Amino acid sequence: MSGSFGALDTLPRVDLAHVPTPIERMPNLAAALDCAAELYVKRDDCTGLAFGGNKTRQLEYYFGEAARLGADVALITGAVQSNFVRQAAAAARKLGMDCHVQLESRVPRNDATYETSGNVLLDYLLGATVHTYPEGEDEAGADRQLQVLAEELRRSGRRPYVIPLGPGHPPLGALGYVRMARELLQQAEGMGISFDEIVVASGSGATHAGLLFGLRAGGSTAHVTGVCVRREAAAQADRIAHHCDAIATLLGCRNPVTADDIVVTGHFLAPGYGRMGADAEHALLLAARTEGLLLDPVYTAKAMAGFAELARNETAAGRSLLFVHTGGQPALFAYQSDLEQLR
Ligand SMILES: *Cc1c(COP(=O)(O)O)cnc(C)c1O
Repeated sequence: MSGSFGALDTLPRVDLAHVPTPIERMPNLAAALDCAAELYVKRDDCTGLAFGGNKTRQLEYYFGEAARLGADVALITGAVQSNFVRQAAAAARKLGMDCHVQLESRVPRNDATYETSGNVLLDYLLGATVHTYPEGEDEAGADRQLQVLAEELRRSGRRPYVIPLGPGHPPLGALGYVRMARELLQQAEGMGISFDEIVVASGSGATHAGLLFGLRAGGSTAHVTGVCVRREAAAQADRIAHHCDAIATLLGCRNPVTADDIVVTGHFLAPGYGRMGADAEHALLLAARTEGLLLDPVYTAKAMAGFAELARNETAAGRSLLFVHTGGQPALFAYQSDLEQLR
């Protein structure tokens, strides 16, 4: 496979992920859904670093930049049960750096397990310095507070690197998924498969946009559906379009993604970020019980609900469908009180 990936291999990057991640068939899930498509999963939950997940590939570019700048401490802000925060704390340690994390109360819950188990427990085990931010959906405020923490560190002689995830920053992490798309196309070629449909959770959109960009840059016309987990479909589609433009700028190449390429569904978003609806609950149990595949309650359960809907559609017959497992399983333990109610 050739393709036009611009500066992908020359921008600063560090190795963090175990790649290539496996692609596995899911015949039992196909049978349970009574579908005549071939179902596959790309195991990006197996990227290897501190329980893995999609943020490891994204962090390869952020920490590449941190290393270039000679930083000795990384700062990141995210939801209480953020997988990004956990993987960033682990990446910092692996690279010999300290990590300050700021946890935002984005999800309306206050049970002790949610506040202390799952990713939060791992943040502590990794020795991250934990700060809290009480406001839920206040990206700008949370970013400003993180800059205040960075300034304090700078004054005490440290060299902080704030992982820039807020709006208005170039989506460096999406480059990790441009790379993943290139990897995926190479794997598919080796397996003799051409994927028709790919389904992925769409949160910040870095994964969705990077994957879509990379597929088109590599010459693939695979249809990509992003399942909204954070905001409704129209706003999410805008975000993906912006990210794709920004990726082209970062890579110094043409943006191969057209408006028609950007497909998002908001069907599985309710009741909101970090909360599962009935379809997501059902999908989580179905994947576990047909394939031994553990999903997470915030992202991949919703994405799997979208994947199952596509797989059940009769137009899927004879096609190859790929689910991108983006990880997140440590949060299962934080949601124990909800999950143990499921049957
Ligand atoms: C962050 C995350 C996503 C969403 O990825 P974005 O790049 O933010 O869209 C999906 N799944 C898991 C498990 C995540 O942690």
